[in-house]
Parts: sequence; C-alpha cells; structure tokens
Amino acid sequence: MTSTQPKPTTTDAGIPVASDDHSLTVGPDGPIVLHDHYLIEQMANFNRERIPERQPHAKGAGAFGYFEVTNDVSAYTRAAVFQPGTRTDTLIRFSTVAGEQGSPDTWRDPRGFALKLYTSEGNLDIVGNNTPVFFIRDPLKFQHFIRSQKRRADSGLRDNDMQWDFWTLSPESAHMVTWLMGDRGIPRTWRHMNGYSSHTYSWLNADGQLFWVKYHFIADQGIEFLTQAEADELAGKDADYHRRDLYGAIKRGEYPSWTLKVQIMPFEEAKNYRFNPFDLTKVWPHGDYPLHEVGRLTLNRNVTDFHTEMEQAAFEPNNQVPGTGLSPDKMLLARGFSYADAHRARLGVNYKQIPVNSPKAGVHSYSKDGAMRIRNVSDPVYAPNSYGGPQADPAAAAEVHWSADGDMVRAAYTLRRGDDDWGQARTMVHEVLDDAARDRLVSNITGHLLGGVSEPVLERAFRYWKNVDQTLGERIEKGVREGQS
Ligand code: NDP
Repeated sequence: MTSTQPKPTTTDAGIPVASDDHSLTVGPDGPIVLHDHYLIEQMANFNRERIPERQPHAKGAGAFGYFEVTNDVSAYTRAAVFQPGTRTDTLIRFSTVAGEQGSPDTWRDPRGFALKLYTSEGNLDIVGNNTPVFFIRDPLKFQHFIRSQKRRADSGLRDNDMQWDFWTLSPESAHMVTWLMGDRGIPRTWRHMNGYSSHTYSWLNADGQLFWVKYHFIADQGIEFLTQAEADELAGKDADYHRRDLYGAIKRGEYPSWTLKVQIMPFEEAKNYRFNPFDLTKVWPHGDYPLHEVGRLTLNRNVTDFHTEMEQAAFEPNNQVPGTGLSPDKMLLARGFSYADAHRARLGVNYKQIPVNSPKAGVHSYSKDGAMRIRNVSDPVYAPNSYGGPQADPAAAAEVHWSADGDMVRAAYTLRRGDDDWGQARTMVHEVLDDAARDRLVSNITGHLLGGVSEPVLERAFRYWKNVDQTLGERIEKGVREGQS
C-alpha cells in the first residue's frame, strides 16, 4: 500500500524545513533574520529560475518518441541508426523563429523541427524547419536577418517595414518568403506539417562512397493550415495553441508520426548539376531526385519536466554520427559553430552532460572540468598517453571528407546556368498552388505590406513580387494601393 502522507519539505541540501508558511522573525511582528537560510534559498533560487531564452527559436515545445527504419538504405549510408530493423529513441522540439517565450504559436513564421536521435554511435541531430528552403545562403547575413524579424531598437516593437526592407534587399529570400506567405506559413498544428533538413547533408556507405542527401519528414497526419484570420483569432485566445495540441494528442494516445524520406544525389553529380545543390534557397526538384523512404518517426511520450527536457535541450548540426556528415553548404557549416556556441553561452560549457543532451552511447572524451561538470573524469586526461586512455579510431569515426581548393575570397557561390533567385518561387506560384491558394497568397502578402510598410520599401516589394510573377506582383500592388486609399 502506498502512503498518501506528503513527504516532508526539505531544503535543497535535503534538510527538513520548519515551516512552509512563516519566515524566521524576532517576535511575530519583528524583523526577519538573515540566517533564515531556507527563506534565502527560496528567494535566491526564484531570482535565478529563468535561463536566457534562445535567440532565435525561443518559443517551442516537443516530445519524446522513436525512429524506426522501414526500408533498406544501407547502400547509401553505414550509419547504424539507418540500418534495417533499427529503432532509436528520439527527442523533437518544434518552435517559431522570431517570437519570444510568451509569443503566440500561431504567428506567421517558419517552424523549427529539431530532432535528436540517441543512436548507438552517439547523438545525431537533424535541426531543420517546416520549410525545405531558407531566406539567405550566406551565414554573414544570418544575424542581420534575425534582427530584422525581431524588435526595433527604439520602440521595442516588431516592424513589418524592417522585415520587408531586409527581404527586398536580399532577393535570394524570394522562394522562402513565398513559402512563408503561403498556406504553409501557419500550420494548423505541429502534427500537420512536414519537417525538412533544408540543408544538404552527406551520407557515407560501408564502401566509402559519398552521397549528398536532403531529409524530408512527411506528416502522416497530412498537411493542414490556418488562414490568417483563424490564426489571428487563436493568437488572442490561446497563445500556446500548438503546444497544447501536441501535448493533448500524445496524452490521448494519438501518437503523431512522420515518414522519413531522403533525396539522394551521387557525389559526382553535384559538380555539374544545373544549379548549386548546396544553395539553401533551393529545393532539388523531385523529378530530378525522387524521395526514398527510410523510416518512421513516432512521438509517444510527453515531457514531464519542461525546463530540464525542453528549455535545456540543445540541438546542433555538428552532431553527425559515423556514416553521416555535413556538406559544403555555407549556412550549414556556420551553424556547426554557431549552435554549439549558443548552447555554451546559454547553458554552460558542459551542456552535453545535462541528461536530455547526454548520449546513450558511451562518452570517452578528453573534455575536462568547467562550470557544472558532473560526469566523472579519470586519468589520463591527455592524449597521446601510456596509461590506457581512449584512442581515436578513424575507421569507426567514418568522417565525411570532400575536396576544396581555391583562393581565399569573399564571394557568392560560383553561378551556374540554373542559378537565379526567382525561378523556384515562380514554379511554386505557377505549378504548385491552385487558384484559391494563389488568392490567399496575394491576400496574406497584401495584408502584411499594409501592416506598416512605407516607401521606398513598398515600391521595392512590388518589383520583388513582379520578379516572381508579373501578375502576382500587379495584384499585390493594386491591393496595397487600394487598401491605402
Ligand atoms: P513537385 O510537383 O514534385 O513537388 C511540389 C511539392 O510542393 C509537393 O510535393 C509538396 O511537397 C509541395 N507543396 C504542395 N503544396 C504546397 C503548398 N501549398 N505550399 C508549399 N509547398 C507545397 O515539384 P518540384 O519538386 O519540381 O518542386 C516544385 C516547387 O515545389 C519548388 O519550387 C518548391 O517551391 C516546391 N516544393 C518542392 C519540394 C522539393 O523538395 N522538391 C518540397 C516542397 C515544396 P511535400 O511533398 O514536401 O509536401
């Protein structure tokens, strides 16, 4: 029989406390004494409860689950996590990009789709979005891009003028902005959206052959979206609408799942493909590179401690396991540094020792000490050594390598015949969207431009959309001019 008697309150040192209600005072009406260490511990802990929120992707939530392989892709990768029959525990975090912790889930924004797979060869993180492309292709612009989407220095307000100023001065953003302003810019729930690696990654097979891959997590629940009006209403009614939906679905036993498919490009084909396959503003057309099924991701367990399992979760594209790797995508290479650096700044240098970030595979690293180190370290603490310390095994690491040569420059990717900023956005508008979706696209863009965008940005925005599609641009210009009058 279990006791219903509550456990006695203790201090953080485990010492029973004398009262949950009263501070220690000199007489019932007298001053509080400084040696009431329990009161001081409570106040000090409370004052330090918040850790810095992520910059960006501050607002988010997620769940635990598992990834199981359903198809044989061993010809393309030797990674244990992708071998037939393998099942791997997984953590996912969904998020918005620009909003702060308390911001509404239903603001129009890309959604983060960050995965940590606790594989037998270490943690594999796939840190993607619900969009297959991104706004920019050079990491030097990333900080500027995010600042333009967040808040002004003077008023502390978000500002559509600032957003469109950046976008229209960065024509490479056109494909992504078309996505964002389209139906998929506000998913109905996190369960009803796809996740994409967006970046090109690499796979290495057991024979040492290298392939370029893009990951697509296709929602088994189907794609559903919110109209701008529905999203605006929900933003006022329930800022945590998406978080609540996911938590409730898993609690009810309605476990959402995604089918992982990959596009695979043989290593040599990248050199002469008609556009740069590492350009993050472009998709690989399905007609050129069809989707190959790999497995299924299922979410079946809610977090039980949001702070330690979500706020302290740290995802980084650097976490590539043997048989998987990065690619020459400049944005991805910069994220390799930036994400780990953000975690060190936000959580401390030993963030990988926080249980949610700890691999289930053994850790035999030479990292030592630092704030909040809790893992035992034993000698020898250096390599090479004569005392049986860990030794690197290049065969087990199966590191991905590619060649690069050239002068050191600050330049855009070398242009190829199929490289342009407007073509894939135009294909989406012309060939993927139907009339009703095109109407909603015009209405969403017009409404956004009417939300405080001024000259010269406005005029540039009309030209931007006419570059995507002349008729689309004219409709937007007409809608804005009429809306202004
Ligand atoms: P396809 O006709 O083979 O693919 C079009 C894809 O567009 C669909 O498979 C679907 O992707 C996605 N889609 C469908 N409706 C919408 C919508 N309302 N908003 C956004 N995406 C939608 O053509 P291509 O592969 O040649 O690509 C054509 C265009 O489609 C691209 O320029 C790009 O804008 C868009 N697209 C392409 C993707 C790719 O990886 N090739 C992925 C997503 C979009 P899904 O099955 O992933 O839901």
